[in-house]
Amino acid sequence: MNDHRIRDVLPLASGGSTRLSDSIGRRFEYLRLSLTEVCNFRCTYCLPEGYKKPCNLPNELSVEEVRRAVTAFAQLGLWKVRLTGGEPTLRRDFEDVVRTVSQVPGIHKVAMTTNGYRLAQRAKAWRDCGVSAINISVDSLDPARFSAITGHDRLAEVMRGIDAAEAAGFESIKLNAVLMRGVNDDELETMVEFVAARDLSLRFIEVMRTNDNASFFDERHVAGQSVIDRLEAVGWQRLPREVGAGPAVEFGHPEAKGRIGIIAPYSKDFCASCNRLRLSSDGKLHLCLFGDGGFDLRPLLAEDSETDLAERIRTLVGAKAPAHRLHEGNSGATPHLASIGG
Ligand code: SAM
Ligand code: SF4
Repeated sequence: MNDHRIRDVLPLASGGSTRLSDSIGRRFEYLRLSLTEVCNFRCTYCLPEGYKKPCNLPNELSVEEVRRAVTAFAQLGLWKVRLTGGEPTLRRDFEDVVRTVSQVPGIHKVAMTTNGYRLAQRAKAWRDCGVSAINISVDSLDPARFSAITGHDRLAEVMRGIDAAEAAGFESIKLNAVLMRGVNDDELETMVEFVAARDLSLRFIEVMRTNDNASFFDERHVAGQSVIDRLEAVGWQRLPREVGAGPAVEFGHPEAKGRIGIIAPYSKDFCASCNRLRLSSDGKLHLCLFGDGGFDLRPLLAEDSETDLAERIRTLVGAKAPAHRLHEGNSGATPHLASIGG
């Protein structure tokens, strides 16, 4: 069942009118939960020098804190959680987290985003413990390029992971690809052919500017509209926007099994359809990927106080800014997307 249909059969959050929205009426139904900022890859646009251990060990939320946080968001009507990072599967208790989140009343869909690490071995286990949708990052189908982009010669392993994910029966499998000028932008057609032949979706993500990658962004950014022009040139057609859909623009092709989505944060009106909130691995609520810091919810996660927590979240969300300020060259305080999960 797709997100739109799930939403249609869901009851309102407790109290009937308690759904979470901001001052301009955007509704929030989707939580992106970062489980760790640690990563084993060194993607050029994200952590080009790899994850650097800070002086203090990362202070990640415990499974119990995750349960409390997700319970509060669910009380506010959020029903979909994506587990991300860093690389979320590096957490030893990853499967406990999945089980815990998927048992929170009101959570109807648990998704995850991964670089493919251990996917070939664990796909079935992750599916069995409650993940129904998986996004796998694959920026190139060429082994040497994949290695140059991620710092790891692991394309074959990731491809085996995709096969394992298909065999495990996830409801949705999406491949995420960041297109970079002069690096992999000539692979667009090859990637499109790959998903056209399989029941997979592909998401092209524009390189996003963060605090740490400004010069990389200037050199490598490919505008989403140029990707759209290339897709339309080979017969892909824009699909009608589903009510409540997120910011991706979706394309289909009469002869293709898969779909394609474009995530283009620099495009006009990108923020108008924002339906997501982010919680960092140390418990900070981020109202925007490109916002200024986060709001620390940790003190409220220390004890059973989901109601206070939900009220605090509601107040903070009420003040969410209408749009990011990327067009003014302001990408907020996010050093890299590994810090808050992309
Ligand atoms: N480690 C996992 C992975 O790579 O799939 C999950 C976390 S990663 C931050 C989530 C997504 O953000 C990935 O698809 C990655 O390609 C994307 N990403 C990271 N930094 C980005 C940037 N600066 N611009 C665009 N996408 C980015
Ligand atoms: Fe790690 Fe994902 Fe960032 Fe790549 S994009 S460095 S895999 S967190």
